[in-house]
Amino acid sequence: MRFYRPLAPFAAMTFDLDDTLYDNRPVIDRTEKEVLCFIRQYDAKFGHFGHEDLHVYRQAVLEREPDIYHDVTSWRRQSAELMFAHHGFNDEETLRGTDEIMSCFRYWRNQITVPASTHKTLSLLAEKMPLVAITNGNAEPAACGLASYFEFVLKAGVDGRSKPYPDMYHMAAKRLNLPINQILHVGDNLNTDVEGAICTGMQACWINIANKNLMLEPEGRLMPHIEISDLASLLALI
Ligand SMILES: [Mg+2]
Repeated sequence: MRFYRPLAPFAAMTFDLDDTLYDNRPVIDRTEKEVLCFIRQYDAKFGHFGHEDLHVYRQAVLEREPDIYHDVTSWRRQSAELMFAHHGFNDEETLRGTDEIMSCFRYWRNQITVPASTHKTLSLLAEKMPLVAITNGNAEPAACGLASYFEFVLKAGVDGRSKPYPDMYHMAAKRLNLPINQILHVGDNLNTDVEGAICTGMQACWINIANKNLMLEPEGRLMPHIEISDLASLLALI
């Protein structure tokens, strides 16, 4: 554990989900593969599709609505709708197909292997203070066995703009009824988690699982209060 700024007492913790509490890369890789497979089999019109074909619709939706990236679930949904509409499906067929793709997506997106050490750490921390999840992504803590540790979960799109925008950090403090500087945010991303939290007045813990060098990271413009390489290190702080 490394300290870069003096850590003041804190009364609650907020957590990023993806790549902070579990390894998200294999989850996304598997999900994208399974969803593509589902789409290919859904209709012969999509039988030849590759990832790049789906990307075209994502880009088209982003160009039409540049702020859509704050809500990755709506972005995905609208991309599917556009794909169906573009291939001549009527409104009803588009809605049905989109619902089916989103169900497939939701299923695979939540096939997350949460390490036993994460469960143990969160359960011990939750005995001492309120914990909150703040995510830019679309993992469902309830579907991957993490919900019971959190007082509530904030999701970009539904609960405001994505991190590093301050919306969800402020909302967490308001709902916890705590001054924002009495909250420690924990996350793996130096921009969305560390810089985002510090700019709102929260304290920030960078979880550096990949053994990176803070001073060499291009997106590391603000130093966290602390750096840890293992979630369990947080237990030493409470
Ligand atoms: Mg993350």
